[in-house]
Parts: sequence; structure tokens; C-alpha cells
Amino acid sequence: MFSFSTIKDYHIALSNGHTNCVTAVSFYIKQIEVNSHLNAFLEVYKEEALERAAFLDLFYQKNNALSGKLHGVVVALKDVICYKGHKVSASSRILENYTSIYNATVVDRLLQEGAIIIGRNNCDEFAMGSSNENSAFGSVLNAADNARVPGGSSGGSAVSVQADLCMLSLGSDTGGSVRQPADFCGIIGMKPGYGKISRYGLIAYASSFDQIGIFAKAIEDVAVTLQVIAGEDEFDSTVSTIPLPDYPDALNSNGKKYRIAYFRQALDHPGLDGEIATVIKEYIELLREQGHVVEPVEFDLLDYVVPAYYILTTAEASSNLSRFDGIKYGYAAKDDFDDLTDFYKQSRSAGFGAEVKRRIMLGTFVLSAGYYDAYFTKAQKVRRILFDKTQEIFKSYNAIISPTVPSPAFRIGEKSSDPIEMFLADIFTVFANLTGIPAISVPLFKHSNGMPFGLQAMTAFEDEATLLALSKELIAINNHL
Ligand code: GLN
Repeated sequence: MFSFSTIKDYHIALSNGHTNCVTAVSFYIKQIEVNSHLNAFLEVYKEEALERAAFLDLFYQKNNALSGKLHGVVVALKDVICYKGHKVSASSRILENYTSIYNATVVDRLLQEGAIIIGRNNCDEFAMGSSNENSAFGSVLNAADNARVPGGSSGGSAVSVQADLCMLSLGSDTGGSVRQPADFCGIIGMKPGYGKISRYGLIAYASSFDQIGIFAKAIEDVAVTLQVIAGEDEFDSTVSTIPLPDYPDALNSNGKKYRIAYFRQALDHPGLDGEIATVIKEYIELLREQGHVVEPVEFDLLDYVVPAYYILTTAEASSNLSRFDGIKYGYAAKDDFDDLTDFYKQSRSAGFGAEVKRRIMLGTFVLSAGYYDAYFTKAQKVRRILFDKTQEIFKSYNAIISPTVPSPAFRIGEKSSDPIEMFLADIFTVFANLTGIPAISVPLFKHSNGMPFGLQAMTAFEDEATLLALSKELIAINNHL
């Protein structure tokens, strides 16, 4: 069987002639076919990926060198990332059959470094959801238990890595959509800080929160990929102009002792699964035994983070999604409309799914003249307080840890009739998006119900390097248990 533990190992195998890119792509295409019931892909670029693999193999033969840092690395993209000449639909009927007319910056950078894009991953419609049940093209199944959700909204991208349908994948994380499915699927999911990766070519959900994130099985692979896709971009002015550190090199900080905070209220939260709470408390003891300082900090705002997140993101979504009007692009009502307003109504009513409509209406409501101050302004104030709080914590600590999600992967259908319950599953992840800090979910634990779950770590703004190094340490400690 074709297998590798890191991109580095794969590259060594390539240079020893033990494998080649065509073998790699053929393996993943087979895997995708065998696992088609998981519904992780909306489209597979079979011929194209094989052709590119053959081209890369030829390149290697001719030059006896890799074409780039991601030479032959087989990558899948969440269906919200534009890839020129390929469809992108945000898993929505309203964009069904829409073809990208340009590459997202991340796609350009992946291709420049030799990656092979194998297909487009299913996700929650417009990245709104926590279970992938909101896709217009069907649910994605968790490969560890097909009766359970993979998480969302980047469910297809997480399952693609979980089930070895590709080597790594890109998702987007507005409130946890990379970290939460990574937690549910037992893999790594990293969301860098706001402004670290260009969003040019990412279909927007809530622009002051959205970040592209990385799914992989090895932290070394996350570091290389981040190095490739992060950094200044003339097409996205929100990207930080601070030069990137050497992320793979940051993983060499062996032996460093960290000062780690955790929110006392998070670990004592009534909504947190008892077993997850116990396991993480035990793990904290282990971290202490290894010489790290791990201390509780008070955080009495926990119950405000989900409301603040859903007020602000729905407000931004209602604005971002107004462009899908049936005229510029996307689904258009065909017949029987009275006037332009009726045409818009019909197109948007038929094109958007229920969750997206709920959020557009909520967002329009919180922005409406009579309620703006009561909801939107108030939520912005909460956001500012949270930001100040993180600044304060990072004066004394290198990182904050927490559970990634309050429960392990739930059953398909279990929460879909209760949106509030579904929203509450985001309680630990939205904090990093509200404050813009980098965050990761590392797969460390297994629940007695058989499902994996992870630990979330967050570091100060612009400090992805520490986040990666700490993650390596967290994984190493767990492996020595
Ligand atoms: N579950 C969250 C939501 O539905 C997060 C989504 C995301 O990060 N894209 O908004």
C-alpha cells in the first residue's frame, strides 16, 4: 500500500525511486472510489491530476530535483476556494455549475510549489454549519463511524485526510470549521491568525472572521503548507505584511517549557462532556509533570461568545451573500415572476438552503435600524472585551488550551432539528475567530464511544510558530503516555 508519514518522507521515497507521483495519485483516486459512500468529494479531477503527476515525474527525472516544497503532494480543496476553470459552488444550489474565472491566491501558491489538486470537497452550504448536514449535495459521513457526522463546515476536507483520500486539504474556518471537524475526525486542523493567509478567491461568509486553514495528519506537513500559502498578497489588503518566520524550523525548539493558561469556566462548563473534561484535566497534570506551567485563568464571558459570534457573522453574511441575486451569477428563477423584486425573491428562495436563509434573515434583523445598537453594537463591544482579555493573558502565557468541541462527533440527525444546540457546539472554537488569534486542534484522545477527540491550543496574534512548536510537544507527550 502507498503510505507515508510526512511530506518529507514521501519526498525521500520519491528521490530514492521507491514511488512516484503517478503512483501516489492513482492510490488516492482508488481510495476516493472505494470510499465514495463518505461523500467527501463533489468532484474528482482524475485525468487532470494524473497528467500533472506524470508531468512532475518527468520533471524529477530530467532535473533530479523536486519542483517545489509540495512537489507531488496530493491536495483537496473545500468547495469555497476558487480554482480557475473548475466549478466552485459553496455546496449550494445557487452556485451549482458556476466555474471559477481565477485562482485563489492559495491555489496559485500550492501549484507553484508543485502540489497536485485532486478535487473539490463537500462542505456545509456557504460554510455555515457544524456537521456538514447543510450541504445541498448531501451529508458527509465520518469515516470512523458512518452513522456520525464529520463536523463542519469543512467536513469533506477533514474526511479526505482522515480516510487517506488525499495527503492534505484546505478548508476555511470562520468559527471553528477547520478545528471542529479535525477534532471529530482525529486529525490536525489549523487556523492561522486573521490576516496570515490571503482570502483572495475564498467565497466569503463573514469577512472579519474567515480564514483559510489546513488539515493534515502530521504537524510537519502543516508547517510546510503554511509556509507555502501564508504571507503578503497584493490581492488581499487584510494580509499581514510582517515577514514570515521559518515555520518548519520552529518545530525544532525541542525542550522548550511553556506557560499555558486554560479557562477554568471552560473545563467546568455544564455543556462539556464529562469524559472529555476528565481526560483533559488528566492531560494537564501530565503537562505539568513534563515541566510546563499550566494554570487556570478566570473567564466569565464564555456564555457570551456564541451569541456575539452569531450576531456578528450573520450580519456580515447577510451583506456578503446579497451578491447572489440570480443576475450577476448563480441560479436564476426561470419563469413566472412579476417584477425585479419578485425575481430576486424567487431566485434566492429556491437557490439558498434553510440554514443560509435563517442566517441571512437573522443578520438582516440584527442590522436593522431599530435593533442595530441592541445587537450588533453590543456584540462588537463583547468582541473588543474578548480581544483585550487575550492581550492580557498573552502577557503572562505562551498559549491557551481548551477542549476543541464540548462533545465527540454526534450522530447524523441528532442536532439538526435544534439550531441553538448546534450553535452551542461552537462554544470553544469561536473565541479564536472573534479575537483573530491562531488556533489548532491536535488529535490526542479517544472517547469510550470509540470516537477521537482533540485538544485546542491558541497562541498570541502573529505567533503561529509557537502554536506549531507547542503542538509538536503536545503530540509527543501524548505518544509517550
Ligand atoms: N459552525 C460555525 C458556523 O456554523 C463555524 C462555521 C465556519 O467556521 N465556517 O458558523
